[in-house]
Amino acid sequence: MSCNCGKNKDNAKFRTEEIKKENVVAEKVTMMQNFASAIVSRGVSNNKVSLPVKQLRVASCFGNMKQGGELPPCEHLKPSTTSGKFFCGGCGCGDREGTWLVAEGDKYSKLDYPKLACPLQMPGFSNYKKSDPSEAEEPITRRYYIENNLTYKDLEKIPVTIHAPTNK
Ligand code: SF4
Repeated sequence: MSCNCGKNKDNAKFRTEEIKKENVVAEKVTMMQNFASAIVSRGVSNNKVSLPVKQLRVASCFGNMKQGGELPPCEHLKPSTTSGKFFCGGCGCGDREGTWLVAEGDKYSKLDYPKLACPLQMPGFSNYKKSDPSEAEEPITRRYYIENNLTYKDLEKIPVTIHAPTNK
């Protein structure tokens, strides 16, 4: 059944990406610590990431098929039990309002944190790591595709709401 997120499991161009850690439990603890660090980065003035970086994060998580592109959503993107919301199933933070990747309008969402780690170290995140040459072999990784095929014009098509930092 479709979760209406544009996910295309039959897309043979992209390889499946598992989180590369022998000890998944330890990795989840680390990701929780990373999220705590992200919360600190929000600061007392509700600092937010810049618009282009948020668009890049949205591309990493959601892909760009809804904008007519060919990048499917991340396989760790999970639909929330709340209709229309999504969370990262790879970081262990669970499904709640504070962990939704994108919230309503200008509400603070997870992808707004200035410092935010991704379990796959995807572009736009604080722990981003450039793809290695093997990721260019077909099926390619989504990370390789973003680095080599996604243009700034593609990113500009991704609708993202972001407002100036405020402490209200
Ligand atoms: S944070 Fe990383 S692993 Fe999680 S959904 Fe986004 S791109 Fe995928």
